[in-house]
Amino acid sequence: MHREATIAAWEHIAAGTTIGDANVEWIGVRHQMRCLTCAAEFPGEHADPSPRCSNVGLVVESAPQIAVEDWVLEEPT
Ligand SMILES: [Zn+2]
Repeated sequence: MHREATIAAWEHIAAGTTIGDANVEWIGVRHQMRCLTCAAEFPGEHADPSPRCSNVGLVVESAPQIAVEDWVLEEPT
């Protein structure tokens, strides 16, 4: 998912609601890749080269499009 578009969409839907003032930390997550030649596993994007042998790797575990990792509710002051 495109980072800037995701952030813009969040800001659009959250504006004027109780979550509009939330502090949101956006963290990019990479796919888990495996090299077709040497079987090295590494985090990366589609077609990233193997860090061990520079050959092509395949995605073996896709990163989630978007996920909530954690949230904290602060009491009103
Ligand atoms: Zn390799």
